[in-house]
Amino acid sequence: MPHDRFGREINYLRLSVIDHCNLRCVYCMPLRGLSFVPSPELLTAAEIETVVRAAVGVGFRKFRLTGGEPTLRPDIVEVTRRIGSVPGVEDLAMTSNAILLPRLAHPLKEAGLRRLNIHVDTLHQERLTKLMRFGSVQEIEAGIAAAESAGLIPIKINCTVTRDYNDSDVVDLARRALERDWHVRFIELMPLGGGETAHVALSQFVPSSETRRRIETELGPLVPLDGQNRSDEARNFRFEGGGGVVGFISPVSEPYCGSCNRMRLTADGKFHLCLLNDDELDVKRALRKGGGVDEVKEILLRAVKLKPTGHRLDEGVSPQGRSMFQIGG
Ligand code: SAM
Ligand code: SF4
Repeated sequence: MPHDRFGREINYLRLSVIDHCNLRCVYCMPLRGLSFVPSPELLTAAEIETVVRAAVGVGFRKFRLTGGEPTLRPDIVEVTRRIGSVPGVEDLAMTSNAILLPRLAHPLKEAGLRRLNIHVDTLHQERLTKLMRFGSVQEIEAGIAAAESAGLIPIKINCTVTRDYNDSDVVDLARRALERDWHVRFIELMPLGGGETAHVALSQFVPSSETRRRIETELGPLVPLDGQNRSDEARNFRFEGGGGVVGFISPVSEPYCGSCNRMRLTADGKFHLCLLNDDELDVKRALRKGGGVDEVKEILLRAVKLKPTGHRLDEGVSPQGRSMFQIGG
């Protein structure tokens, strides 16, 4: 198992496979001035598989597909199948906005996807249009239903809480944990990439403590879940008598850098060493020069060793190099 300089065991690789998206969430993607990785510069399915084989070879066990919106990649089922069939991959998950799941949930499950996190900030159409700018509640509900029918359960929801946009929806979403056994996780905004999205993340920030208070006031006390996994970024709770889970991901108000177990791969083939730092190590160049699993292993182990200790958001230092849609969360 690879360890970094601070003794952290790094065994979880998040793979961003595309930087395009069919939505434009206000804290993630601006409407104008975007530039995307040209298709020939995206890692191919075969190159992604080589990286996964290398990662498994050095001790990684958990993998997650993300974006932009991973389901927009035309060969996403093939990418999933290739990763799912690498011996040693114990967990293969995806983070998606659900819009394309009615046609993809079953093929993805069949290709080896085990778990799915669905991004739902609100189920109120007017607020959804303001926050995510495209898409509809109907489409998201259809995506969730497709995930359920494909057996990608329990339904896990990620809600990024944004003041004046969806902070009034947190109770409604948490109620789904109580009534329908969903796992609903509330995420604090992070300022990434400078520009208008970082500005939104700073000006509309809501601390998890406020979100939790709001939920408990309406729905009753949250009880800490037993057996919390140390590397789980969320602090998880349940309602007394409820079957679902309510989690809080608080990178700003309660940083969990000390237990970070992640490495990230960008769609254009860089190991991104920490979500909230700009440091990267190129792996695509080696792959395109004919490098194979052994060479990638070497680069990955170097990336692990170079992982920064944590972020400096509390000192007002935020990463400028990439926005969230270029890393994948
Ligand atoms: N498109 C997919 C989705 O939305 O789930 C995958 C990529 S998206 C970047 C992954 C997650 O990052 C989403 O849950 C989204 O809400 C979250 N996210 C995006 N920008 C963020 C920001 N500035 N701060 C905190 N979370 C953010
Ligand atoms: Fe797209 Fe996900 Fe970013 Fe929203 S958060 S714009 S759905 S990549």
